[in-house]
Amino acid sequence: MRTIIQNGTVVTAGGVFKADVEIQGTTITSIAQKIKPEIGDRLIDASHQYVLPGGIDVHTHLAWPFQSTGTADDFVSGTKAAAVGGITSIINFTNPKRGASLIDTQKEWIEKGKLSAIDYGLHAIINEYSDRVLEELPILAEEYGVSSIKLFMAYKGELMVNDLEMYKIMKKAGELGVITNVHAENGDVIDELVKQAIAEGKTDPIYHGYTRPTIMEAEATGRALAIAEAADAPVYIVHVSCADALQKVNEAKKRGVKAFAETCPHYLVLDISYLDLPDFEGGKYVCSPPLREKWNQDVLWNGIRNGLISVVGSDHCPFQFEGQKTLGKDDFSKIPNGMPGLEDIFPLLYHFGVHEGRISLQKFVEAISTAPAELFGLSKKGSISVGKDGDIVILDPNRSRVISAETQYQNLDYNAYEGMEVQGVITHVLSRGEIIVKDGHFIGELGRGKYILRDRLQKTPSLNQQKEMQV
Ligand SMILES: [Zn+2]
Repeated sequence: MRTIIQNGTVVTAGGVFKADVEIQGTTITSIAQKIKPEIGDRLIDASHQYVLPGGIDVHTHLAWPFQSTGTADDFVSGTKAAAVGGITSIINFTNPKRGASLIDTQKEWIEKGKLSAIDYGLHAIINEYSDRVLEELPILAEEYGVSSIKLFMAYKGELMVNDLEMYKIMKKAGELGVITNVHAENGDVIDELVKQAIAEGKTDPIYHGYTRPTIMEAEATGRALAIAEAADAPVYIVHVSCADALQKVNEAKKRGVKAFAETCPHYLVLDISYLDLPDFEGGKYVCSPPLREKWNQDVLWNGIRNGLISVVGSDHCPFQFEGQKTLGKDDFSKIPNGMPGLEDIFPLLYHFGVHEGRISLQKFVEAISTAPAELFGLSKKGSISVGKDGDIVILDPNRSRVISAETQYQNLDYNAYEGMEVQGVITHVLSRGEIIVKDGHFIGELGRGKYILRDRLQKTPSLNQQKEMQV
């Protein structure tokens, strides 16, 4: 069937223009001022609405075992929530068991995604070093379309690798055109600060913030960037939370390091005062890096505007308040680290970014769709242009709604943005030409989402030039 989205304002990273969009089967086949409908066409009226490329959230932790528990959303609840919130592709993290092969882990996680409502890719986390890792990386890249891995500089004993291991893995990844995601915090020093705080009886959630200072994020960020430089490898710093760390990204980019940065909605919208809410409410806002002093928000928005930050990802890592967050009621170090965001990232970035005048519509589309598609090799996604998948979000900028746990699809007993009114209501979401969301309701089928075989960086040679030009 042919679908025509009529009379909308189409937004791409390159421009904003009035046009009709034609989709045949799964693919965008024409964009023109007026496309003549024929009998049998499915018509969607997008008058006075924006027609945007589907959101791509490259930072999710669905079905993720972590810190003696596991995240509250699996690929069923998580991808329905994503779809309703305008996200049509995710890249989720795997989490290998101790000693497990990366290939077996990848297969296991592809299987976990079988009921996904939207298309999904998987970044391979490498949580321990061995020679086998270096042997498996090319197989992952070639046979499983894994064009990105992730390393942690924190969570010692669970996820952390040391500098030498990081160098060896990055070097191999770089040779393959595989980009390395890095969680940059100084795990050794932070563990010591946490121990000291607990010993002094400082057990409330706010101390989670105080024991992970910005300077320890900045130090690790600088170190990761230097190691990537030495390894001549592309590197993507996930969840940059503060000015101190962003400064390191700026310096590295100026030196010519193939460095890219991501921030998350919670760092753009929330701040450290949320960790200090009474009655353990602060536990809801424990994530790492922690929420920062409010003035950092302007620096991050500025980073998105000037290209220092390429991508906004949700770092969706949800834990129930009752029963999971409360594990740390008497000891903040036992609160599982992570916050929800997958359902709200797109509306939050639109509202606080575009509606409130901090970023342009094009920048919004670039940060939530075009740049993640380019960096992580989703060649059929990231733009409304002929030949791309029909992944489209139609948003009515004239209406508003209130975010609430009561109406969310996320499998969670709270929402970190409870009660916030956001301008912009998503009326339709199309995934590969199929309408999967209408007026806030998921109407697609589970299991329709496909595992994405992703391209490696050298196949998109324009990327580095383009990104460097923005700095
Ligand atoms: Zn994360």
